[in-house]
Amino acid sequence: MDVDNFKAYCDQFDRAVNELKLDKNLATLLKYPDREIKVELPLVKEDGSLKVYKGFRIQHNDARGPCKGGLRYHHLVDANEVRALSALMTFKTALVNIPFGGAKGGIQIDPKELSCRELEQLTRTFVRSITPVIGLHTDIPAPDVNTNAQVMAWFMDEYSQINGYTPGIVTGKPISLGGSKGREAATGLGASIILRETAKYRNIPLQGASVVIQGFGNVGSWAARTLHSYGCKIIAVSDAAGGIYSKYGLDIPKLIEWQKENDSIHSFKGVEPIDNEALLCLPCDFLIPAALGGVIHKLNAEAIKCKVIIEGANGPTTPSADEILWKKNIPVVPDILSNAGGVIVSYYEWVQNLQHNYWEEKYINSKLEKKLVDSFYEVAALAHSKQELSYRTAAFMLAIRRVADAVQMRGRTT
Ligand code: NAD
Repeated sequence: MDVDNFKAYCDQFDRAVNELKLDKNLATLLKYPDREIKVELPLVKEDGSLKVYKGFRIQHNDARGPCKGGLRYHHLVDANEVRALSALMTFKTALVNIPFGGAKGGIQIDPKELSCRELEQLTRTFVRSITPVIGLHTDIPAPDVNTNAQVMAWFMDEYSQINGYTPGIVTGKPISLGGSKGREAATGLGASIILRETAKYRNIPLQGASVVIQGFGNVGSWAARTLHSYGCKIIAVSDAAGGIYSKYGLDIPKLIEWQKENDSIHSFKGVEPIDNEALLCLPCDFLIPAALGGVIHKLNAEAIKCKVIIEGANGPTTPSADEILWKKNIPVVPDILSNAGGVIVSYYEWVQNLQHNYWEEKYINSKLEKKLVDSFYEVAALAHSKQELSYRTAAFMLAIRRVADAVQMRGRTT
């Protein structure tokens, strides 16, 4: 189903602004991105043909610090999607109180159509195109859908060739190039910490809790691994080609090994196939959408049978689905909280790069844990202080207030 990502974000933003009774002009300033860049990216393919791709970098707000946000390679990337994702980054960094603003970027491409060399060339061309507007204290990209530590390494190398050695220009780098221990696992680990705290808060036993995860990439697989280690029963996972299900619970460590060796989860033994739509509607304690945006919408929300949704992906639930789920008494723990683990450890990576001083994983994870647990209870306290507030509206209210304060204190409204 087609989803207007920016409209969905605006709806979430407007609800929180209404609750806050924020000045209309200030709200308009906070709602829309500060700067939008679109670039044309020529690529001479290995067969000699020329292809031109569209790239985007959208900087939503930098009042609280340099813009921060991932880089997505996907055929559905467009300005509207990047615009919405950039705004979510501003409010995510504000909610977990790290000194960053928000941005997002992307290239409209199916990366499977390119060879590794072509992907590297395209990444380097993109870096040269946006170099004038990014920087260590301006805008720091990171991985997102279909980009990984290797893409970040090319990014850092190209930028450093132009500007001198600058490891902190991107996060999510390989550890050998200044990446942080714990970054790869951070988003999935963070979603698991949020799930654990939600379970505690809502009296759902964590041991044996049934969990369904859509998406088995970085976020989904690390969430599965962590939740399995907490004693949860992961009954279904999926990727773009579909899912696998076992009512007894999947052996996640074995599945991850299988995926590495076979490049697929689908041939895993002892499981039943399930399509992505049916997977979302499985009865379970926790549903974690950890793939793309807009997957829970007005046409399938009524059929959702979990107790709680933990949003691993950005924007997986549309506003009309939010309303249906609210009526069904299914709480949604929003993306700007549930998947903030990645940007928190990205912040730690950037700090380590600036200091040229590297930390141990145990220390990083203990800081991550505290940030997320504190943020969860702030959101839960506000949501439950007023009966009618969803976790999403409460989270946006806390975040918008912080960005509004920074914008006003910097004199941008006077
Ligand atoms: P990824 O590319 O590593 O994995 C994406 C997964 O989703 C893959 O398993 C893919 O097969 C699956 N998928 C793609 N299209 C699908 C579809 N139509 N139906 C079902 N599954 C599909 O990406 P990721 O980094 O894990 O990101 C997943 C989501 O989490 C995105 O929304 C991203 O914005 C968000 N996110 C990622 C991070 C991070 O640190 N990587 C941080 C915050 C939010």
